[in-house]
Amino acid sequence: MNAKLSAVKGMNDILPPDSARWEWFESRVRELMRAYGYRNIRTPIVEPTALFVRGIGEVTDIVEKEMYSFTDSLNGEQLTLRPENTAAIVRAAVEHNLLYDGGKRLWYTGPMFRHERPQRGRYRQFHQVGAEALGFGGPDVDAELILMARRLWTMLGLHGLRLEINCLGQADERARHRSKLIAYFESHQQRLDEDARRRLYSNPLRILDTKNPAMQELVEGAPRLLDELGDESRAHFDGLQQLLSAAGQDFVINPRLVRGLDYYNLSVFEWVSEQLGAQGTVCAGGRYDTLIEQIGGKPAPACGWALGVERVLDLVAQAQVAPVLPVPDAYVVVAHAPALSRALQTAEELRAAGLAVIVHAGAGSMKSQMKKADASAARYALIFGEQEWLSGEVSVKSLRAGGEQQQRSVPVQPATALLECLRS
Ligand code: ATP
Ligand code: MG
Repeated sequence: MNAKLSAVKGMNDILPPDSARWEWFESRVRELMRAYGYRNIRTPIVEPTALFVRGIGEVTDIVEKEMYSFTDSLNGEQLTLRPENTAAIVRAAVEHNLLYDGGKRLWYTGPMFRHERPQRGRYRQFHQVGAEALGFGGPDVDAELILMARRLWTMLGLHGLRLEINCLGQADERARHRSKLIAYFESHQQRLDEDARRRLYSNPLRILDTKNPAMQELVEGAPRLLDELGDESRAHFDGLQQLLSAAGQDFVINPRLVRGLDYYNLSVFEWVSEQLGAQGTVCAGGRYDTLIEQIGGKPAPACGWALGVERVLDLVAQAQVAPVLPVPDAYVVVAHAPALSRALQTAEELRAAGLAVIVHAGAGSMKSQMKKADASAARYALIFGEQEWLSGEVSVKSLRAGGEQQQRSVPVQPATALLECLRS
């Protein structure tokens, strides 16, 4: 026997019956996006490495150490499995001039790839659903995006998610804050961990995002970006807060919320759960008004979020929200070999009428076929035996637990009586 092969570490198979929860979730997402007028966009899983280096920023966790990058051995191109999708959406929007007649509301879903240490809620292939509003500058769209996520939690039966928001201002405000931050951390050199020392001059803002408990006190005392905001940034942030309050949405202002990616400005936000251990952020986003220009487009503002599907589904499982499992309407038992083609034809007619029908495969005794019918959770068994074959009928047997196991024979042609029987 050949040696067994397994999936790549940190990359998961999603198997039935769990996949039913994924399908249920995806349907809710589609309803949500339709309700808000967001249109689906699909981009390749592989992109030029340069897109992410330019789009995400060189001094970020993702670009520094998490990307699956490789050289295409056929033509030498530098390629990367997408670690996130915002840069690619912006690339596509610029490449196809999507903003020629104004802003666009877009959404996507799919796998993302990051070389991280696998643990609960952190995988090397994981999935995101994302919403991006390109070409809109006001805090109204920031609020729309946040409230959209809130509606999704409701649709999924999730409660108790906390909304954290912050304002990252604009480049000049961040530059002012940056000098103060560097001076502050320089004066506490001996308390910096290795990560912080490395980032001190390259990306000091990210030090604020440290997960090292030993650094918490130092970071708490650091100069706040919020104190550097000018009137315009402040007005944007106030605007967002007013809209959220008016919509009855509670939030916490977290001055240390800086997000992992370089491209954000003004509003940033996260939805956080207490039920997921260390990986509590289920949805994160913000405004990225300079990214479109950075990717080569005409300057235009934008805002968006991405949620981690595995983390959200972990919450759904904990909330014990039962997804509606797809149950077949009928299981076809072929107990008389010559009846097979009639059975198949009947099954096709039922499917054309919208029913879900499983036809037993591989023959076998009536008893073993009925066992499979029971295990399939189908509502009815349709029995094509010798008797039925001779009379041009099919026997319909209810498989519902508790119900009487009554059996009726109905004509196969026309299928009207059978359909009526299965729909009752
Ligand atoms: P974290 O701080 O947990 O590493 P991040 O800032 O890197 O998160 P984003 O790039 O903002 O995450 O991605 C948005 C969301 O995608 C996260 O809030 C999370 O729910 C999910 N996510 C990110 N990385 C992973 C991963 N490796 N495995 C599973 N989900 C992930
Ligand atoms: Mg990360």
